[in-house]
Amino acid sequence: MYKNINARPAMPSQKAEDRIKNFDEVNLGYTVEMAKLEAERCLQCKKPLCVEGCPVSVKIPEFIAAVVEDRFEDAANILRQDNALPAVCGRVCPQEEQCENLCVLSHRSKPIAIGNLERFVADWQRENIGIQVPEIQTSTGKKVAVVGSGPAGLSCAGDLVQMGHEVTVFEALHELGGVLTYGIPEFRLPKEIVKKEIEVLEKAGVKFVRNYIVGVIETLDELLERFDSVFIGVGAGLPYFLNIPGEHLNGIYSANEFLTRINLMKAYKFPENDTPIVTMKDKSVAVFGGGNTALDSVRTAKRLGAKHATIFYRRTEAEMPARIEEIHHAQEEDIEFNFLVAPIKFNGDENGWLKSVTIQRMQLGEPDSSGRRRPLPIPDAIEDIQIEAAIVAIGNGSNPIISQTSPNLNVNQWGNILVEKKTMKTNIPGVFAGGDIVTGGATVILAMGAGRAAARAIDKYLKNKQWETIEVEQAEW
Ligand code: FAD
Ligand code: SF4
Ligand code: SF4
Repeated sequence: MYKNINARPAMPSQKAEDRIKNFDEVNLGYTVEMAKLEAERCLQCKKPLCVEGCPVSVKIPEFIAAVVEDRFEDAANILRQDNALPAVCGRVCPQEEQCENLCVLSHRSKPIAIGNLERFVADWQRENIGIQVPEIQTSTGKKVAVVGSGPAGLSCAGDLVQMGHEVTVFEALHELGGVLTYGIPEFRLPKEIVKKEIEVLEKAGVKFVRNYIVGVIETLDELLERFDSVFIGVGAGLPYFLNIPGEHLNGIYSANEFLTRINLMKAYKFPENDTPIVTMKDKSVAVFGGGNTALDSVRTAKRLGAKHATIFYRRTEAEMPARIEEIHHAQEEDIEFNFLVAPIKFNGDENGWLKSVTIQRMQLGEPDSSGRRRPLPIPDAIEDIQIEAAIVAIGNGSNPIISQTSPNLNVNQWGNILVEKKTMKTNIPGVFAGGDIVTGGATVILAMGAGRAAARAIDKYLKNKQWETIEVEQAEW
């Protein structure tokens, strides 16, 4: 079936010198010809290891075979059986660690570009025939509240509405989509894609209530009085700080605040959009952290005109948790990397504005509990580096409002809701949870998988009202 197993088409993208001047998507997507060429490389393995690498077991060989045969609509339908947001996952899944990592071809040449093909198929469907509104089963008369409209909440809501339940999603912000909307920038994930998916859910009957903070406007107990079941998918949106002197200075942001102001409130259009952000044009901007959030922040700063947009990371490139593709893109965009440094103090001017950071140079020691080599300070290797803006992107904790206003809900020491793995049920009858609020900051596909696992369990619970013994057939999350 395959032609040349070595030739994986590169993803076409905007040139680096052009894209740093706009917020448009960097990757442009495969053409039909490229997608077919790539699909033909797939060996259609009898025991497809790629599927084992996918957290939701997408039927990879089947959808790729449909691409080979020009059956793009079938390919989209096959994808959507397991993955409610293929256009999103094709773009942001860490495929190199998941499905593509296990593709047999990775041993002899390059793995099949499963993510690129997934993106192609989902985009083809949206652009050519539109996303189909799923068939809805007869109404059960049961009502479910979904708290949070990120990938966990959206996929839970989508499955439940198809099962015939009445679903209302409550979202704290004025826009829906969770991190897909307020966190991941437009140049990696166009917001139009997320909007279209949400429109389909609305057409299928899901009700969305925006600007509604559960725990403040209405408690969990109150929700349980008017709904038969509640799913909590409120994510991990509480930023961690460095907790070093000077972190209060003007010009220092958490990555969450910075990205939200840009993505959600379009601060780069100030004063047309009334959300100011410190001007970064021709300035030196430092981003502290090494994950996707740090890279999204530093590349955003570059697009805002920063002269030097620099990652400060206390380990080396090899230990960076960010996606490899994003590190490459950042390198192409002249993002600077200052490895093996840890900030110890921010310094300000007489008006309270950031003017420099004092850093400690580090070296790598033995691996720590995460398996990565531990950064250790090099004695006396301390220096001041001039910066005019800083973004702290060192991770997020669980959103605390619900657990604080529902003290009977069991959470761990970090505020993550405790659930039974298979069913996603909490200790409160009728209440389920999933996504980052359970796992801590993880991935889109894991959050979606958890939302779908919870939907199956909620359906069983609503049908037989047996809380203790909900039986679900699917794999654990
Ligand atoms: P979220 O997406 O956080 O959604 C939770 C929603 O709940 C939010 O909309 C929030 O406003 C709402 N909410 C919170 N509290 C309340 C309340 N009390 N009442 C009502 N609503 C509430 N993952 C990848 O796989 N690939 C990537 O490339 C990637 N890049 C990332 C880049 C950034 C900048 C960030 C921050 C994360 C990234 N992630 C990535 C991680 C991924 O986005 C998350 O794991 C995923 O979004 C978690 O989904 P969720 O539904 O659990 O929560
Ligand atoms: Fe790969 Fe993610 Fe698609 Fe699964 S959902 S096949 S891991 S890109
Ligand atoms: Fe195709 Fe690779 Fe999966 Fe085999 S492992 S079916 S070659 S994608």
